[in-house]
Amino acid sequence: MAPKMEVKCGVDTCHYWKSSYCHADNLEVNPQGDGKAHSSDGTCCTTFRRI
Ligand code: SF4
Repeated sequence: MAPKMEVKCGVDTCHYWKSSYCHADNLEVNPQGDGKAHSSDGTCCTTFRRI
């Protein structure tokens, strides 16, 4: 069974954002740039959709 978790998010320009939380059914996060993340700056929410 897939895990369920609450996702707090500060990206208020995303279609799925509402009152500081993500309301997307599924979330995908991937490394940016060369594909090897070394800090949180190297990660990116792929599910983001603009309003
Ligand atoms: S899809 Fe990503 S950017 Fe959009 S509200 Fe959810 S966590 Fe934030």
